[in-house]
Amino acid sequence: MSMLALLPRIRVVLVATSQPGNIGSAARAMKVMGLQRLALVAPRAFPHPEATALAAGSDDLLARAQVLPDLETAIADCHFVLGASARRRGVSLPELSPRQAAQALLPAAGQGEVALVFGAERTGLSNEELQRCHACVRIATDPDYSSLNLAQAVQVLAYELRLAAEGGAGAEAADADASPRERPASSAEMERFFRHLDQALRAIDFHKGKDGVTITHRLRRLFLRAAMSEREVAILHGVLSDAERMAALASAVGESPGPDDRPVST
Ligand code: SAH
Repeated sequence: MSMLALLPRIRVVLVATSQPGNIGSAARAMKVMGLQRLALVAPRAFPHPEATALAAGSDDLLARAQVLPDLETAIADCHFVLGASARRRGVSLPELSPRQAAQALLPAAGQGEVALVFGAERTGLSNEELQRCHACVRIATDPDYSSLNLAQAVQVLAYELRLAAEGGAGAEAADADASPRERPASSAEMERFFRHLDQALRAIDFHKGKDGVTITHRLRRLFLRAAMSEREVAILHGVLSDAERMAALASAVGESPGPDDRPVST
């Protein structure tokens, strides 16, 4: 598949945008570069005349924009998600430049659904939102003032996607990826896996009374970095279920009873 044909597949997600004008400008920034799919998570005001005015000739993108209640829903079917963020905020995600981001995102779009997520004007993306991303993208700026206008940040990334699609580096990676592969796990599948992982770690008393937040974040990062297929996730679910079963057996015979033990019927 031509790399240019991948551009319209890339989903741009704007989270909690407060200025409708920015939604219109973002749509325009996308359309000039060949991006088409806009998703809006809980926008403060949309549709809105200011959005339409600033969209100029890209109001078709606005008309087709999906409005969703939360980020989880907006990216549920995506197997690769990048979050644009000016600051690192203590979330130790891999950080990509816009160029690296474009070169990762395009071939991934050939494998299934992908998204590029932008935060709200005042607050940016929350830690929880960034935790759902495989990596973050930071546009290089002056360190004293690092926050671009939302639509301008969309423009920079859309431009890099355009450059990558027009055949810069990355085309070979896409060709290599065109070979048949297992279906990549979606964001919703990964979240289901993380819930099972939490549950199994509690069942085997892994955290030993601590809250385990740091470990949980590290494990999320590890498994997201692995870019697992559906089948790999299924295998890990199997491992976790066996661990839970063994923990239940152990507590039934009175070994290391923990606070989470439930009676096991015989
Ligand atoms: N005050 C916020 C900035 C929000 S700007 C903060 O400090 O996080 C709105 C959005 O534009 C951001 O959430 C991000 O998605 C994007 N953005 C702005 N500047 C950026 C930069 N330097 N690199 C990457 N994304 C940026």
